[in-house]
Amino acid sequence: MKAVALLVAAGSGERLGADRPKAFVALAGRPMYEWSLDVISEAGLTVVIAAPPGFRLTGSVDGGATRSASVRNALAAAPADAEAVLVHDAARPLVRAELFLRCLAALADADAAVAAAPVTDTVKEAGADRVVERTHDRSRLWAVQTPQAFRRDALERALAVGDDLLAGATDDASLVERQGGRVVLVESSPENFKVTTAHDLRVAELLLSDRVGTTPC
Ligand code: C5P
Repeated sequence: MKAVALLVAAGSGERLGADRPKAFVALAGRPMYEWSLDVISEAGLTVVIAAPPGFRLTGSVDGGATRSASVRNALAAAPADAEAVLVHDAARPLVRAELFLRCLAALADADAAVAAAPVTDTVKEAGADRVVERTHDRSRLWAVQTPQAFRRDALERALAVGDDLLAGATDDASLVERQGGRVVLVESSPENFKVTTAHDLRVAELLLSDRVGTTPC
């Protein structure tokens, strides 16, 4: 199957508190999104980037108001002959090329194949009053990451929904699940975490500097 990667980089990253969109924040000497771009190229994939308005890059499109809207914009610009689509968050700069390839391979018997790590904390559910209502069985829980691989037709169908549903989707695979699609998990490492806070940025800086053998700032 010919595959294309969609790199979503259009979020504002409010929780990071930086002076620019998160994907453009400096990380171990370069803008964060470039780390993922290198890995995508190492995996031999072509890429469409969803960038924030005003941050146009070669081959990029404008992102949307929500994450899934950014995916939809990037997908519309993907080569017509790509039958498989790998969506990746620019906020996960520690991804490895082999994970893209394992997600792609797992599409053989699924509509979507998503990177995920087993949950190590106990997860409780509570109401707004913080009174615990239930404790989940940790042995069945997975923390879902990106890349997420899709059969293109399944992703296109999943994204053809109203803006309210798109806005509520914290990942794209959930939209495929909603339509009864078969979504499988591809085991990944917690090292492929999403940079959300200043603490995460610092940890990513240390790990990436270690990887490329430079001194962290
Ligand atoms: O906000 P969060 O960190 O969960 O975003 C995950 C990814 O989705 C990030 O790489 C971010 O740049 C991207 N995103 C986007 N367009 C939006 C919101 C988020 O491309 N409107």
